[in-house]
Amino acid sequence: MGYYHLHGIVLQSQDIRESDVAVTVLTVERGKTRFMVRGTKKIESSLRGAVEPFTEGHFFVAERRALDVLSEWERTADNYDIKKNMKRAILAGYFARYALELSAENEQDYSLYILFKNIFKLLQTELKNDIIKMLYEWGFLTIFGTAPEIGVCYNCGKMRNSEKTYWDIAGGGFYCGACRPMAEDALFPLSAKSAETGEAVSRAAVALTERMVRSQKALEKIVAPLSAISQDSGSTLEFSKGLIRFCRYHLREDIPNWLVKLEHASEERMK
Ligand SMILES: [Zn+2]
Repeated sequence: MGYYHLHGIVLQSQDIRESDVAVTVLTVERGKTRFMVRGTKKIESSLRGAVEPFTEGHFFVAERRALDVLSEWERTADNYDIKKNMKRAILAGYFARYALELSAENEQDYSLYILFKNIFKLLQTELKNDIIKMLYEWGFLTIFGTAPEIGVCYNCGKMRNSEKTYWDIAGGGFYCGACRPMAEDALFPLSAKSAETGEAVSRAAVALTERMVRSQKALEKIVAPLSAISQDSGSTLEFSKGLIRFCRYHLREDIPNWLVKLEHASEERMK
């Protein structure tokens, strides 16, 4: 049995025996993958840091018949700014859960890794958390191939002349006021302002899944249109509601609870 090399971000760690921990990592090479870290309780163990969620590093892993075992590792990013800020840490945990529950194991998914890298960068900027959350959700939908095309009417191809836009949650598309189907219960209405927010989110999210943003300047370029729009919190909130409904319908029914539960868990910890 041999060794192999991975680069990735730790998503989750679970104790399996007294000082053994199973770690799930989002990697460049194998997508979401798992290995075991042994002897983490030993003070002198150099492997202890490798079980900390949101840490990024190079991992050198030994093949085993059951779960492969971490042999050596090197930290490349600590992401301490996320870990030390409770709200950011909760949000990062929420993002991790998408990858943990919805992505395939040991299947390379470079876009997902890029999205994580970029979102973690954004979490360490001044951009509002609710915008970052939407960027991630839309980015995830993009990777899954379920993100709708916003900005044009599904039926007539126009949109701009409409005051209101109607999001067909089940079907995926958007309708202008004139084309909207009569059965309204599955439609989510968006004001022109909210639709504009949605378009900006969609553009930025697609960019974040496609390219690794290396510089702060490049990141700002992608996000700047959103910062301007996000001043209007009403439209941000409205679009966010539609988006989570959409995620729930197309990804998993219990998604909205993930964040609530995490917030609750952190409150418990604070007591
Ligand atoms: Zn139309």
